[in-house]
Amino acid sequence: MIYLDNAATTAAFPEVARVVQKYMCSEYGNPSSLHQLGVSAEMTLRKCAKIISKILNCDSRALVFTSGGTESNNAAILNTTFIKSSKQLHFITCAAEHSSVLRCFEQLESFGHAVTYLPFDYRRGVDSADVIAALRPNTALVSIMMVNNELGTINPIGDIVSALRQSDYSGLIHCDATQAVGKLDVDVAQLGVDLLTASAHKFHGPKGVGLLVDKTAGKYKPLIVGGGQQANRRSGTENVPGIAGMAQALTMAMQKRAESLAVMRYLSERLAKMAAEIGGANVLLLSDYKAGAAHINALAVKGIKSEVLLHALETKGVVVSSGSACHSNTKKAISQVIQAIDLPPDYREGVIRISASHMTTRAQVERAVAIIESTIKDLINTFGGTIE
Ligand code: PMP
Repeated sequence: MIYLDNAATTAAFPEVARVVQKYMCSEYGNPSSLHQLGVSAEMTLRKCAKIISKILNCDSRALVFTSGGTESNNAAILNTTFIKSSKQLHFITCAAEHSSVLRCFEQLESFGHAVTYLPFDYRRGVDSADVIAALRPNTALVSIMMVNNELGTINPIGDIVSALRQSDYSGLIHCDATQAVGKLDVDVAQLGVDLLTASAHKFHGPKGVGLLVDKTAGKYKPLIVGGGQQANRRSGTENVPGIAGMAQALTMAMQKRAESLAVMRYLSERLAKMAAEIGGANVLLLSDYKAGAAHINALAVKGIKSEVLLHALETKGVVVSSGSACHSNTKKAISQVIQAIDLPPDYREGVIRISASHMTTRAQVERAVAIIESTIKDLINTFGGTIE
């Protein structure tokens, strides 16, 4: 099998699995316990926070460990100060954000707050001028993702943040960097955001663990309350095995990054070449292989349902996704991202996402592209299209 659905999730590095097992079976203390096992678990957490914060270039005290990207996004956006605010607040996001962001904003709207959903260009992302034009005196949070999970588009977060900082805006800036961390250079200090989301299973770590970088110095109020762990910012016994696995995974992802990015870029280039060869009338490449993230590629095939293509590829051993895997639960035929971009109707149902990881090899790329190309050509011939 050639697994090219790494934007949905990745296989854990074997070293990560070993670390997780160690902290599940040998060093299994509760970091809040006062005995040696507990103290040692607390020290492990601190060590992991140091490792991760060094890679992300933020203060280790700004890290809040969570159960993943969904929780971090919920915590950042459904901040209790917003929910409880007696005056109406305003929020800015983009129509093509992940559902764990969009559903939060829908909840804020149901509390009486106002939300602006900015348009999204699949090659250039969100325009910083649109963000500035949408600002209102009561805007409390701007939330824009770094890499779009369905198309690989990189939003110009640096431009957006600097435009906001140069304006009168005094609210918070959140970035969902779930698809960026471990692949792009994510430097929190340089980016200048207040809140940043990441999730371990996207970079060969365990599922169900992630982080929120919180630089708000007390403006952010916790979503999960209880025993007061993590300096009251996220209660619940810390997932030490998961956090240790995440630190190991991020370390290894960053070490392998240069080498694997070359393979990822090669895949993007090959797909672009393939799309050009088959012909623009039949296949539209939705990712900009030069400006977009190298690990996520999306293409739309005219008149062919993505499920048909996906299953045809699977029978030949190539695993891809139809748009975002997060939508398969919602029975929505067309994802919000595809709805947000101006894709001609004939192509809308035929979007597939081909995403690589640090484990993808050049040999896999060669084989997968050959299979994808022949499968698309066969389907176009069967369903009556023409190959230019
Ligand atoms: N944000 C983005 C951009 C994602 O791609 C995902 C995962 N599909 C999430 C958030 C949610 O992350 P998790 O699966 O860790 O809850």
